[in-house]
Amino acid sequence: MSDFQITDNTRVRRRPERAHYDRDLVNSIIDEALVCNVAFVSDGLPRIIPTSIVRIENDIYLHGSPNNRMLTALADGVNACISVAHIDAIVMGRSGMGCSVDYRSVVIFGNAEVVTESEHKAKVLYSVIDSTLPGHKVRELKESELAATLVLKFPLKEVSAKVRDIGVKDIEADYELDAWAGVIPLKTVPGQVQDCPRIKPGIVTPAYALNYPGPSGK
Ligand SMILES: Cc1cc2nc3c(=O)[nH]c(=O)nc-3n(C[C@H](O)[C@H](O)[C@H](O)COP(=O)(O)OP(=O)(O)OC[C@H]3O[C@@H](n4cnc5c(N)ncnc54)[C@H](O)[C@@H]3O)c2cc1C
Repeated sequence: MSDFQITDNTRVRRRPERAHYDRDLVNSIIDEALVCNVAFVSDGLPRIIPTSIVRIENDIYLHGSPNNRMLTALADGVNACISVAHIDAIVMGRSGMGCSVDYRSVVIFGNAEVVTESEHKAKVLYSVIDSTLPGHKVRELKESELAATLVLKFPLKEVSAKVRDIGVKDIEADYELDAWAGVIPLKTVPGQVQDCPRIKPGIVTPAYALNYPGPSGK
């Protein structure tokens, strides 16, 4: 599959050397995300709403209640701009301007297609669970649950990524200062697994939960 074409919308203007339109990189940034932020205009106001995201092949999906304002607006064809960002490190330079973060981010433009076919909807909803904790199996979805969930598909077409991974970059004169500068990597790490207090006797905590590496290691 080819890389994304640069459009007027997706051309990164500041620090264009940090821009990427590589599909594998975009996919990896999206797949590490548990949430995205969805921007859209509704009732004359710009709104940004955080929500879950899952990618299947060359599409991303959002899901939720059919009463959800964001989802219903998007289902009606409102333009969406969806972003995902990971902070990989805080970068502390020798000046305020030299302080920054290393990051990987993606911006997606698009319009939703409503997923109506039950099998497709179910596949998306199971993928949300599997992409959150690979290996976790849930009981079969009920028809009523499927009916009570709106699933929207956004083909990945107009997409950009931006990556800062250079650590400290101070102006040349500042390297002579008697001051510490450096990078502190940041990572989302799982805490201790807690079994549901109502778990049936004899059910052991599965290895996929005990060994969950966190979203960056999925
Ligand atoms: C965690 C984090 C912290 C940041 N902090 C700052 C900050 O404090 N100050 C600052 O100036 N910038 C910051 N940035 C960079 C910021 O996201 C923009 O890239 C920056 O504002 C440049 O905008 P522009 O005017 O060149 O692009 P715009 O004209 O606003 O954008 C044009 C197009 O470029 C693409 N694009 C722009 N930025 C990104 C991005 N980050 N990821 C993917 N595609 C993008 C989009 O498709 C967008 O529509 C941060 C980014 C991240 C991820």
